[in-house]
Amino acid sequence: MLKIGHEVVRPGKHLGDQPVTIPVPEELETVPGIPLNDREVDWYAREYPLESINFTERASRDWANELRDTHAEMREIRKEHEKLNRGLVLAGRATKRMEPTAEPTGEDVSRQIKDKARELGFLEVGITAYDLRYEFQSRKGFNELPHAICLAFEQDFEPTQTIPSVDAEIVHSSTYRTQAAAGLELGNYIRSLGYMAHVIHSGDATGPMIPMHVQAGLGQLGACGYLLTPHEGNRCRLMMVTTDANVTYDEPVDYGIHAFCQVCQVCVNRCPGRALMRDKIWWRGLEKNKLYFKRCRPVMARYLGCGVCMKVCPVQKYGMQTVMDHYAKTGQVLGKGTHDLEGYTLEGKGYFGPGEMPVFDRDFFDMPTGTIEEYAIARLKSQAQASGHITQEMLEELKADLERSQDIDVETRNRMMENLDIDADYI
Ligand code: SF4
Ligand code: SF4
Repeated sequence: MLKIGHEVVRPGKHLGDQPVTIPVPEELETVPGIPLNDREVDWYAREYPLESINFTERASRDWANELRDTHAEMREIRKEHEKLNRGLVLAGRATKRMEPTAEPTGEDVSRQIKDKARELGFLEVGITAYDLRYEFQSRKGFNELPHAICLAFEQDFEPTQTIPSVDAEIVHSSTYRTQAAAGLELGNYIRSLGYMAHVIHSGDATGPMIPMHVQAGLGQLGACGYLLTPHEGNRCRLMMVTTDANVTYDEPVDYGIHAFCQVCQVCVNRCPGRALMRDKIWWRGLEKNKLYFKRCRPVMARYLGCGVCMKVCPVQKYGMQTVMDHYAKTGQVLGKGTHDLEGYTLEGKGYFGPGEMPVFDRDFFDMPTGTIEEYAIARLKSQAQASGHITQEMLEELKADLERSQDIDVETRNRMMENLDIDADYI
């Protein structure tokens, strides 16, 4: 039995459930939340503000969507989701200017807001300051309220275990919609307490949400790039409601995950694209396992959104309390090396059990990179170098892309963020 350094007590999974106690072995103790150098975070935010990859990597996004749309079933599912989701995104935006519907009493309403959030089905809720340092450049000014109510909604267990699959894609999309509707209800409730509430749909995120969710104590960042929450690990979707209500901030928590991921490494070992880094690096002032985007997106685009890194995470499958208990007693990672945890099937490629990995040709990872302009100019250069001259056809292709890129004004950039969650969930 390993020596327990501290215990984390968290509310039970559902409102009214008994609290759970998560033992954190001494050898896994690091810092609450995430190791962070505030001066570096400040500097990067000022000198190199974040921007959505839906803009900076727009060329690959369009390519990925075209590729995904060749899958007939997924094309219909995506269309249906976009149709249903659009109204929820717009309803969230409309809350920005909605006035409170009652006079505030002046009392601290943190408990009431949290209980309401849990009653509405949110798995985790915490409150922290809205941190401008994690805003995308193109979203600056979108939120004007000082406090962030950080929320996580569970994604159903069964379909998630079939990742990557059509069923998993359906539940992934529907979870975003269900939590968006619950978020709108929470906004109504906060207004009824006498305060403003801006409901920010996950597809309308103002930046990566994980840093504020970590700060609010909802979990810690896993090596997979997702937030690992106590009850369901990374099997949840995130959103935020900002407010000017009288609230108390929560504190970040050391669940032991920062160190545990370096022992576990299941997602790193199982990622079909080998897109997850084994070792942590310092990135924009935070210490983390960085995702190698150019190896991830081709897999996501070709294999139903992939998500193997979610499916194979033991915290997702068994919960943090069970995983940490097991580790404390045995020094082993629960489920590691089993087909049940590590196995997955890639459509058209077959089943891969523990130790087995798909092999892809080199050109599997080829995809357009950068913004539309950057990609269009790079393509012209390489075409010209290959053929020794620039043809009218090449120039026409360049012109078409540059015109398309000009159409991406701020409003279009906002709309671009409605589909892909990668920005919202990853740092
Ligand atoms: S989504 Fe797939 S390819 Fe991307 S990091 Fe996760 S496991 Fe790897
Ligand atoms: S699979 Fe293991 S290494 Fe990856 S996020 Fe989950 S706990 Fe961390």
